[in-house]
Amino acid sequence: MTENTLHDVAIVGGGAAGLSAAVTLARSLRDVVVIDAGEPRNAPAEGVHNLLGRESIAPFELVALGRAEAEGYGARMLSDSVAAVRRDGENFALTLAGGAELRARRILMATGLHDELPDVPGIAELWGTHVLHCPYCHGWEVKGQRIGVLGTSPMSMHQVILFRQLSEHITLFTHTMPELSDDDWDTLAALDVEVVSGRVREVRAENGELAAVVLDDGHEFAIEALTVAPRFVARSDVYEQLGGTLSDNPMGSFVESDFAGKTAVDGVWAAGNVSDLGAAVAASAAQGSMAGGAINADLAFSDAQAAVAARKAA
Ligand SMILES: Cc1cc2nc3c(=O)[nH]c(=O)nc-3n(C[C@H](O)[C@H](O)[C@H](O)COP(=O)(O)OP(=O)(O)OC[C@H]3O[C@@H](n4cnc5c(N)ncnc54)[C@H](O)[C@@H]3O)c2cc1C
Repeated sequence: MTENTLHDVAIVGGGAAGLSAAVTLARSLRDVVVIDAGEPRNAPAEGVHNLLGRESIAPFELVALGRAEAEGYGARMLSDSVAAVRRDGENFALTLAGGAELRARRILMATGLHDELPDVPGIAELWGTHVLHCPYCHGWEVKGQRIGVLGTSPMSMHQVILFRQLSEHITLFTHTMPELSDDDWDTLAALDVEVVSGRVREVRAENGELAAVVLDDGHEFAIEALTVAPRFVARSDVYEQLGGTLSDNPMGSFVESDFAGKTAVDGVWAAGNVSDLGAAVAASAAQGSMAGGAINADLAFSDAQAAVAARKAA
């Protein structure tokens, strides 16, 4: 299928960021198409927390509500993924995995990020339910439990301190962490945190629940939740196909943008986790809304300039 319509904006990714942008743009009477592969980052979680007015809503229910709100203002939703994108004169041409082709004047990247989990058997299966990363997303749900922290980087000490706020029963598994400093040992002792040295071989589940952390030497430690620090990697294929490059920070790699989401690639904006690795749902939605406004303004000013030029030429 080939579509000749030139959309004002193609939004790649329909999570909190993309859908908020779609609402803002569609309310400005823009012709918006959202292409979404349907895999929001928080899909494994039971509910979305810290979201004012929608506390604990199921992730896919939030997406369904956002889609309906954007469609209510005229945005178009495509359940597909963008496989390729290229410049087409002043515009962009997108090819979807399902074969459709689209054209758009501007692109918003709202593709989110991929959580690169530590390579320990059992972790991927329990990710988002019993293996966690964020005290604000899941901390309340595991308060008072026996919580393990898998040590993989200096950031693991942050998790120890933040989860200790929520439970007296914290065990740090040093695993692949750099050697602990004297300050770290002082902190661990003062907070009464158990420290277990050695590499973790496996995280064992029983009946879908986290049962134990198993060390290389076979020792088992019964815990109820495990926190890990994934490396956050922006889903950036589309951006890179247009010549964009990723930047790095200690949390991972991301698409750099200004406060309103404008990237180094002309005509391309970014919002949500693809450009802000630490953004939760509310922040991602806010960034989407901001980027939507900025794209609308960019189009409006560019149309005004073209109108002036056409009037002068007449
Ligand atoms: C387990 C877990 C639990 C979490 N719990 C919470 C919580 O309780 N509260 C909270 O505030 N935050 C939570 N978060 C963080 C939250 O998931 C993110 O902040 C939020 O999803 C970011 O929104 P986004 O729109 O940037 O990306 P996403 O929600 O990940 O949406 C990106 C969308 O883009 C699509 N996509 C990617 N590439 C393409 C492509 N090429 N073509 C088309 N579509 C594409 C994806 O399929 C996806 O649907 C949690 C994260 C995890 C991992």
